[in-house]
Order: sequence, then structure tokens, then C-alpha cells
Amino acid sequence: MPNRPVSPRPEPHPEPRTVLAVDIGGTHLRVAHVAADGAVLARRRIDTPTDRGPAAVVDAVVRELASLTPPDDPRAVAIGIAAPGPLDPRTGIVHEVPNMPGWRGFPLGQQLSAATGLPAHVHNDANLAALAEARLGAGRGHDPVVYLTVSTGVGGGIVIDGRIFAGAAGLAGELGHTIVHAGGPACNLGHAGCLEALASGTAIARRAREAVRSGAPTRLADVAAAGLPIDAAAVARAADAGDPLARAIFHDAGSALGLAIGGFINVFDPGRIVLGGGVTAAWPLFEPAMQLGMRRVAMAWEWHPVDIVPAALGDDAGLVGAGLWAWERHAA
Ligand SMILES: [Zn+2]
Repeated sequence: MPNRPVSPRPEPHPEPRTVLAVDIGGTHLRVAHVAADGAVLARRRIDTPTDRGPAAVVDAVVRELASLTPPDDPRAVAIGIAAPGPLDPRTGIVHEVPNMPGWRGFPLGQQLSAATGLPAHVHNDANLAALAEARLGAGRGHDPVVYLTVSTGVGGGIVIDGRIFAGAAGLAGELGHTIVHAGGPACNLGHAGCLEALASGTAIARRAREAVRSGAPTRLADVAAAGLPIDAAAVARAADAGDPLARAIFHDAGSALGLAIGGFINVFDPGRIVLGGGVTAAWPLFEPAMQLGMRRVAMAWEWHPVDIVPAALGDDAGLVGAGLWAWERHAA
């Protein structure tokens, strides 16, 4: 009787240990492998081809993912995508992206799933940055976490019990469009006096340019006369140098932030408020007014003082959040 062939030992099948993560920003497009603990194992970054429409962005994502240096175990189980604009995280359809043409109704999740062969999980970029900051960044150990990103616009996200509070249709967390000063200047969406229209980098720069045009005495007039751009960073430099107008602009932006945050504290009684985005580089210029504004509105501050702290994950927040979201959906 011939010996039976020895059957080979089955290969061990450890759980695959990465997801692909994508952060589609208005300026940069980032891709990475992200481990289950949120560690970024490999990454790439390019300029987002915003003016060529969503199909070109999908092509760029696929190309960059293919160029990633694979980690030791590169088997990915899912892909998580942080995308701008209101979207439906259940279907992966982007409703619209302000200032980026062609995105209305674009099936981003379906397209990236087809291109990668992986389940794709899409969510709003600010919500995912909030998730990352709450789990691994400046909000770690606190609950709920209210997150604001103050840059070109003002985005927001709310994390309760470690999960994104997304509302009934995935659209919650648009904190930047809270009205702070009825009848004030309008944001790009036409909301008169919303937080974004008062405290974003765009709003800070607009107010400075208006002051220069009106002939107000400010060293920013020299910046304009030299042909240099007056952006929020230029206003911050002038404020740091003691320019009264620039300091007043940051004071008012801080005050608007504080009034809005006071309202968020009244609604959520958060464990912590986390502020990210480029404008927060000017923290000392707006923080005192922000604190005063917040305390005018947060009615229970006496019994529960809530810390407002700078974000910890920097430009990685959206990418890490996309990875965490893919892992969370993979496990669901
Ligand atoms: Zn608005």
C-alpha cells in the first residue's frame, strides 16, 4: 500500500494588517497604508488636480496608491476615503464640493472600490479628522470631542463614544456654518454672519484687504504696495509685529470662534474642544478673545470648564481618520 502523500501544513492566515487611506483635499491629495492602530505605514502626497474634475482625481488616487512603498504585509482589507463637501457615507456619493467643479452626485466610493477591488468607505474630511483627533490626537481620553478646522473655510466634526456623530443622513457636523453675527458678512454659500465668514483664513484676509483699500493705517498697506499677497499668514505676521489693525482682525475672529464654541459647549457639554487648521498657527493672537467669547455663552462653564486645545495630528488628521474609518467599517 503506497504511502499516502503527506498533506502540506496549511499556511497560516494572519489577519491582513493594513487599509488604504485617501485624503482628497482642495490643495493636496494624500494616500497611505494605515495599520489597525492608526499608524501610517507608508504615504505619498501630490497636488490635487482640482480643475480636471473627479475622474482625474480618481485616476491620480489609483496611480499614487500603486506607487506606495508597501509595508511588510501589504494586504489591504478596505479603502477609506476622506472627501470634501457634503456627502452620503452610506453610499459613498458626494453631493457637491464647493469650489471644485464636476463633483455633484459623483459616486466616489463605487469608483474607488471598482478601481481597487476593495470595499470603499467614504466620509467627510472634517468628520474623519475629528475621529482621528478624538481617538489618537488632542482629544484622546475625552468624550465627547468637538473638533473645528479653521483654514480656508471652517469645518467641524463631533465624536461621541469614540464614533463620528453623523446625523440621520451623514451630514452632521457642519459647525462652521453656525450663524454668529446675524447680518454680518456672508460665506461662499451665502450665510450672512456664519462662523466661516467671520473667522476663516479667507475671512481674515478679506477684512484686511478691505481695510487696506479703505486707506486704514496699517503696515499691511506696505505689503499690498509691494505686490505681495495679503493672506491670513500676512495678517498674522503684521499682528505679531504689533500692527493694531491686524491685531484687531485676529481679536474679532477669536471672538467669533469663542461665541460659536460657547454654543457648541451648551449643546454637547464636550470633554474637550480641539481646533485644527492653518489659522491655529496664530493661536496666541486669537486665543484671549476666543476664551472671553466662549465664557460669555457657555452657561455651565463655572461647573465644567472645557479646555480648548490645538490639534495634535497636523496634516495627517484626515488620512489617519480615513484609515480608522475603513477599519471601523471593516469590523462592522
Ligand atoms: Zn456659511
